[in-house]
Amino acid sequence: MNIVLMGPPGAGKGTKADVMARNLFVPHISTGDIFRANIKAGTELGQLANQYISKGDLVPDEVTLAMIKDRLAEDDCAKGFILDGLPRTIGQADALEAILAEQGKQLDKVVNIDVPEELLIARLCGRRVCRNCSQTYHLENNPPTEAGRCDECGGELYQRADDSEETIKNRLEVYRAQSEPLIAYYEQKGLLLSINGNQTINNVLMDIGKGLGQNW
Ligand code: ADP
Ligand code: ADP
Ligand code: ZN
Repeated sequence: MNIVLMGPPGAGKGTKADVMARNLFVPHISTGDIFRANIKAGTELGQLANQYISKGDLVPDEVTLAMIKDRLAEDDCAKGFILDGLPRTIGQADALEAILAEQGKQLDKVVNIDVPEELLIARLCGRRVCRNCSQTYHLENNPPTEAGRCDECGGELYQRADDSEETIKNRLEVYRAQSEPLIAYYEQKGLLLSINGNQTINNVLMDIGKGLGQNW
């Protein structure tokens, strides 16, 4: 199954995508995770991307689309993928369609996780991420067993630099202006599955499973 997972920053895409990917035996491809891995490794791509990410702006299409084209061509995507974080603009959606068509593929579903804007800031401010494996936690909603340590791998938890209140405000504005129109775009294409993201993590996952015809 070829799936795009959409929703505003903090909607819970990454948290759900990990579980979905494990259940569907397909990779979870997060553009944000790929950028952050490059920033950590100090690559040229990472240095360039960080100039935009640190302000909460979108990384230019030239860079982002080349990166995702290569990633989707890898062998592990043959049976499907969960794409999290792209497309973020109508232009990227058109480009994604063309990239997939070149590979003889198309999207099966676009899952949109809908969360009221007033909840997003608290979700983003309380988010903590594992430095080692990228697993995501929340100080109140989804805390690790031991404070500051990843349940999965024991790695150190940190707060993303762009999860500061100032940057979050810009990210939400960028989302509203550039990404929200994708909901109508995919609705028109008959691909949209809208999910109420204002429920417990397990209930959101159950709704997504039902919508995709999966019994997980
Ligand atoms: P996104 O990838 O959409 O930016 P994340 O999956 O990183 O979002 O989730 C943002 C924050 O909200 C994280 O701290 C996560 O633990 C928490 N979270 C995710 N899903 C839920 C949920 N259904 N209810 C409450 N908190 C959630
Ligand atoms: P979140 O879902 O919490 O907003 P992500 O981890 O998906 O965050 O993305 C972090 C940052 O990486 C974005 O704010 C943006 O700067 C950059 N980014 C991720 N995906 C894209 C994309 N498709 N196009 C441009 N920039 C992107
Ligand atoms: Zn970890």
